[in-house]
Amino acid sequence: MKPIQMVDTKTQYLKIKNEVDKGIQEVLDSAAYIGGQKVASFTEDLNNYHKSGFTITCGNGTDALQIALMALDLQPGDEVITPSFTYIATTEVIALLKLKPVFVEVDPKTFCINPDAVRKAITPKTKAIVPVHLYGHAAPMEEIMQIAEEHNLFVVEDNAQAIGCNYAFKNGTVKKTATIGHIGCTSFYPSKNLGAYGDGGAMFTNDATLAEKLKMIANHGQKVRYYHDMVGCNSRLDAIQAAILLVKLKHLDEYIAARQNAANFYNKAFANHPKITTPYVAPYCSHVYHQYTLILEGVNRDALHNYLAEKKIPSMIYYPLPAHKQKVFNNFGAGNYHLEITDWLTERVISLPMHTELEEEQLNYITTEVLNFINQ
Ligand SMILES: *Cc1c(COP(=O)(O)O)cnc(C)c1O
Repeated sequence: MKPIQMVDTKTQYLKIKNEVDKGIQEVLDSAAYIGGQKVASFTEDLNNYHKSGFTITCGNGTDALQIALMALDLQPGDEVITPSFTYIATTEVIALLKLKPVFVEVDPKTFCINPDAVRKAITPKTKAIVPVHLYGHAAPMEEIMQIAEEHNLFVVEDNAQAIGCNYAFKNGTVKKTATIGHIGCTSFYPSKNLGAYGDGGAMFTNDATLAEKLKMIANHGQKVRYYHDMVGCNSRLDAIQAAILLVKLKHLDEYIAARQNAANFYNKAFANHPKITTPYVAPYCSHVYHQYTLILEGVNRDALHNYLAEKKIPSMIYYPLPAHKQKVFNNFGAGNYHLEITDWLTERVISLPMHTELEEEQLNYITTEVLNFINQ
């Protein structure tokens, strides 16, 4: 059996090596290392894939979130509602911009922001909501957009983990996550569902004015070179990464299907186990399984993690400390939060290997060992 990895980007690369190497060579031959045809082509393909109004690429997913928030012209102290149960990037950029992150609970089934908690957290200072499509499952966007409309709030989707996820509205309309809020953000970090071989990110919007602004902010606040209209930053997708992503985007749906197959294998093996809750999939979305995350009850989760490590099976805890308990947020009243569901999940979740190259033999070994430990 091949050694098991949490993420196997190498085997995936070898299957598309010729195309990828050719794309990289073309960039080297063109000497267009920044911008150029590869970035333009990838941006266009990515926009078409999402059926988005506008797509703006940038340096990474964290920058995408930061630039998105910068484009909303918020004032210091304005409140931004976001889940505590997420990766640090989501909440960090809010604080970086001198805005106030307001942490709310997630739904323990979907791991995503709870709309009722959002409603309760709204104050006159609330200006935006940043839902996260965690682990590849969509947040309940229809309700979030409804709340945003009622209270005149912006919605910035953190789609770093859910590129390709389909969201079905009650009226039958289907959209890609990242194209539902005012701005959607994603990441091409290598382990993400559409991973580059370095950093990369993108923003999506259907609003032409916002699109223009996002583009300017990512480019030093300029529209005309050397004429700067606003404070921006330098955040761009480099041409070599664009060449790689241009190839990989064509395979994205097939990659998602491979993840879903692996998830189905896991689901079957763990079905109806009294101590294991397998990932829930809400009727409104497809799950793209950036992570395959179990909730364990009555199991020593950390002992399982160590047991699996001994059996050469990697597993991860995403995330061991929620935002409201991070030291960095001490100054943001983090100590005043009581997010019981978030804390409950933090103690019980475990993510198993999930990528496009998992083989049945490996999946069989992983599930057998997980059950061996839990049933002992
Ligand atoms: C990966 C990730 C980001 C940040 O993306 P980078 O490209 O690493 O900056 C933001 N939010 C979530 C939920 C992520 O998983």
